[in-house]
Amino acid sequence: MEPLQDSWGREIKSVRVSVTDKCNFRCRYCMPAEGLEWLGRDEVRLTGGEPLVRRDLPVLVEMLGETPGVTDLSLTTNGVLLDRLAGPLVEAGLTRLNVSLDSLSHVRFAEITRRDALDRVLAGLEEAERYPQLRPIKVNCVAMRGFTEVEVPALAELARRKPYVVRFIEFMPLDADHSWRGDDVLSGGEIRALIEERWPLEEIPAKPSSTARRFRFADGAGEIGFVNPVSEPFCSSCDRIRLTADGQLRTCLFSRREWDLKGPLREGASDAELERLIRFAVRHKELKHKINDPGFVHASRSMSQIGG
Ligand code: SAM
Repeated sequence: MEPLQDSWGREIKSVRVSVTDKCNFRCRYCMPAEGLEWLGRDEVRLTGGEPLVRRDLPVLVEMLGETPGVTDLSLTTNGVLLDRLAGPLVEAGLTRLNVSLDSLSHVRFAEITRRDALDRVLAGLEEAERYPQLRPIKVNCVAMRGFTEVEVPALAELARRKPYVVRFIEFMPLDADHSWRGDDVLSGGEIRALIEERWPLEEIPAKPSSTARRFRFADGAGEIGFVNPVSEPFCSSCDRIRLTADGQLRTCLFSRREWDLKGPLREGASDAELERLIRFAVRHKELKHKINDPGFVHASRSMSQIGG
């Protein structure tokens, strides 16, 4: 089959499917306390706010796992329902897991997520760890100046103590209340320096399409990653498109434009027609995000509505 290529020469090899726009956390950098206007319950919901709140997610995972060509099935979750669902998801064919975790202090976890759920997330991680088929387990922390600095030692220790790849992700202007300011971004470089005050790191090669720069501790214990979309944009190697919970194809996190797939699907479009539509959308994939440009314009939706 002909590769799926945008007009800048990048080949698309990865699609993120958000299975619901609802979420049971209210992370300050993502969603307002009162939540957002959710999609109607009768909408097609193939995609996530928090994927584990979607009923029968293991059934969907199984269906996706059986789809020819799908060789790698991963999930990004806040982990709070994972203690119950890790087993069924693995059984359904899930192979990789990302758990978002911004603090290992109960008070600060509750401050950032507006939920007192750290113990359940840690229990979810422990449960996931029981399944060797589910690897790697990545722990993702959004790095925000004035919040994350003090979390760094404990999170780095977690990477040393557990079989988790701990990754710091720079805070992006994708919060629903548009409170992001450039100064709020704690860069991967700054966090790396904080870690290296205690434990020297050595860079390990990453795949060209990887969003993260990977490091191991010089003494061999564990792995740390830095996802630096603001300080070191990686758009030139971006191979991702996204499908929102309401069936819209997005070719960039920061897109202002979406491509409706739900309408044609509901109207009985053939596979060939859908393929044409997807190829057309991909040919219009944005060259790069403009976070660092003076005229930056916000994406048309926030992270939890897009599916991060
Ligand atoms: N609810 C799931 C979770 O917590 O992992 C999946 C959806 S969540 C929107 C996906 C990821 O986006 C999480 O790791 C979250 O921390 C991250 N995220 C949300 N808003 C962000 C922002 N403004 N900048 C950077 N990352 C963000």
